[in-house]
Amino acid sequence: MSTEFTRQINPQPATDEVRAAVLENPGFGQHFTDHMVCIDWQGDVQKGTGSWDNARIQPYGPLSLDPSTSVLHYGQEIFEGLKAYRHQDGSVWSFRPEANAARLNRSAQRLALPALPEETFVDAVRELVRVDEAWVPSGEGESLYLRPFMIGTEPFLGVRPSKQALFSVIASPAGNYFGTVEPVDIWLSDTWARAGKGGTGAAKCGGNYAASLIAQLEGDAHGCSQVLFLDPEREGAVEELGGMNVFFVFDDNRLVTPELTGTILEGITRDSVLKLARDRGMQVEERAFTLDEWREGKRSGRLTEVFACGTAAVIAPVRRLLSHDEVIGSEDERPGEVTMAIRRQLLDVQTGRAEDTHGWLTRL
Ligand code: PMP
Repeated sequence: MSTEFTRQINPQPATDEVRAAVLENPGFGQHFTDHMVCIDWQGDVQKGTGSWDNARIQPYGPLSLDPSTSVLHYGQEIFEGLKAYRHQDGSVWSFRPEANAARLNRSAQRLALPALPEETFVDAVRELVRVDEAWVPSGEGESLYLRPFMIGTEPFLGVRPSKQALFSVIASPAGNYFGTVEPVDIWLSDTWARAGKGGTGAAKCGGNYAASLIAQLEGDAHGCSQVLFLDPEREGAVEELGGMNVFFVFDDNRLVTPELTGTILEGITRDSVLKLARDRGMQVEERAFTLDEWREGKRSGRLTEVFACGTAAVIAPVRRLLSHDEVIGSEDERPGEVTMAIRRQLLDVQTGRAEDTHGWLTRL
């Protein structure tokens, strides 16, 4: 059964001129559409009771929270990120939204927040995109980035799961994340970890990103747009970047990526890349991958390509890994053939230029 949303239309939406100016140069995450979705929850996670009510579209704007609201103190916050793409015939589609809905619920379970029915998640995204359809860009590499999130909203300072929650979706027109497909340098965080055994690494919660910012600052200072985190339990084992999963291409048609250990975010792009690589007849390995193997692969020339992937940037070729002690890779690294072929294939499915053989697209 689909969720019924009430609609309160924004009496002061952006003018056509303002919207056109934003769509001319959307950037990332700086401009928001005229509306947002909100759905309220009340209940008790421990008892497994509660209900989602008052699903609504309302004008985009500030939330009013009591200063004692639980999320402001104990950080019960989770989020998702997915995109809506305009196809050539003008229709708008999203990529595997049910996978984002399922991941939100895994994050919710870890953070003791309530589950949201998957169809409500997809309905919420569809409602928002329909009311703000004019904000979906149509240029090459452009999309409407959707940010669903959930917070604990009970005004109460006791340390226990909130008995009230808000699920919301906001939307922001997005350009090409890194601007071009120029290979990026990444910084090795050998001081800071983003996750540990039994922690929240596999959940998409705000706290993980807060914990990664100090490493990101270090990376920025060394001219790196992303940071690579290692597994704090296994010496030299590569985990993921601050906001992307990482892949290694070998010259014998092999693709290697760190296995899901509970400390890595299960990227939806990661999963899609694994499937596309298998379709291409590549041998796929999900296993521990160490810095030694990276170093040795580069030295011998058998490791031919490294790339990172995630919803925002899709697939970004990696040029070098920089750290206090060493540089792995060379400055004149060009985007690799396999990297660019998988990138093209993924983009073509997302934008309706290639057949959706896996049934990944949902019309909004
Ligand atoms: N790892 C982390 C830590 C991330 O934040 C993201 C972005 N959601 C990813 C990997 C990639 O996930 P996805 O492909 O689902 O965007």
